[in-house]
Amino acid sequence: MKKIAFFCIPAHGHTNPMLPVAAELIRRGNVVRFYSFNEFEKKITATGAEFISCDSYLPKLTKQEEYGLKNVSATEMTIQDIRITLNMDSFLDGEFKTFCPDVVYTDSVCFWGKLNALKHNVSMVVSTSTFAFNRLSSRYMKNSLKELADMIFGFPKISKELKKLRTYGYHVNSVLSMVQSDNKTDSVVYTSRRFQPYAESFSNHYAFVGPSVFSNIEPNKDNVRPLIYISMGTVINDRPDFYNKCIEALKECNVDVIISCGNAIEPDDFYTLPDNIRVYTYVDQLDILSGADVFITHCGMNSVSESLYMAVPMILYPQTGEQHAVARRTVETGAGVMLTDDSVCGIRSAVQEVLNNNKYVTAARECSADFRSCAGAAGAAEFIENAPHSFD
Ligand code: UDP
Repeated sequence: MKKIAFFCIPAHGHTNPMLPVAAELIRRGNVVRFYSFNEFEKKITATGAEFISCDSYLPKLTKQEEYGLKNVSATEMTIQDIRITLNMDSFLDGEFKTFCPDVVYTDSVCFWGKLNALKHNVSMVVSTSTFAFNRLSSRYMKNSLKELADMIFGFPKISKELKKLRTYGYHVNSVLSMVQSDNKTDSVVYTSRRFQPYAESFSNHYAFVGPSVFSNIEPNKDNVRPLIYISMGTVINDRPDFYNKCIEALKECNVDVIISCGNAIEPDDFYTLPDNIRVYTYVDQLDILSGADVFITHCGMNSVSESLYMAVPMILYPQTGEQHAVARRTVETGAGVMLTDDSVCGIRSAVQEVLNNNKYVTAARECSADFRSCAGAAGAAEFIENAPHSFD
């Protein structure tokens, strides 16, 4: 039996994949204490883990900071990460003394988890909800001008915050050293070696356990006519312009369409919908994908993994650097096409291209078989129980 401390940032995409791992560790007789935030309490306690609320350590945000976080500004996220680490410093000193974890399982961008494992000399395993990024695989990212400007102009602000970390005894050279993967740190990655870009450049300290998919549903494409599913994810999904173009492009096609538009827009805000198109604020995505024939996606790591798991070929419409990396790898597997022309005509011809060429679904089926053969939560749990690993 081991005592394992879980740490994660307040984000669903990062927390969700850790949940089945927590449940599996507990099932095997370990004790899991999960340091997280109130909005995740229900999900965490459902795994059997002990939930520790960290909400009181969240900094008060200005309007500008709130806006930056909502728009996934790397500068803003890094600054908040450092501030939470500083706020939690003495609390976590106490926790490490009283709980005495054998292993820390921490999200890859959760500074307070990583830095406290190092500070208290506890074995650490990193949970990576995106691809593992090193010098090679980060070449897959294609940052937009907005993202580059954010990073360049944010540099002095981040340097100032890093100095504060050092005065607390956390020896951090750079933000990159905090977030980039190295070949000595034990890491769990929720994808397969096959899907990871430059997989050969990652040592055996990486356990590629496959996507964390909460479903045993098998794909079932028994539709009367093809089903097209469209979603821009849960974060930057306020895109009525794009959904309207999709509606225009597909309203007269012999297909059914489901759009998940997120909370920022009301389904009623759309023009009169034709009979073959339905719009929802949120759907059971895995359930929809199990019956879908094409997925038009923003290329979030979870969405693409779920799509491949359900053998659904994709039309790829990435918006951020990280999503570009996922899209590029998907194109390489043959399971999707880039939406290079997002006009009404461009959308319609991309859908026709994927529906009329079997090669895309064949490639998606191969990815599905690969994902389903991965070790999953049980493999992750075993890897964590046996940390630290000493490989040559
Ligand atoms: N999702 C869902 N229903 C929806 C839209 C999204 O269940 O209507 C889930 C989806 O299954 C995925 C997650 O939300 O697990 C989105 O994560 P992803 O990494 O794809 O994108 P993000 O929202 O982080 O941009």
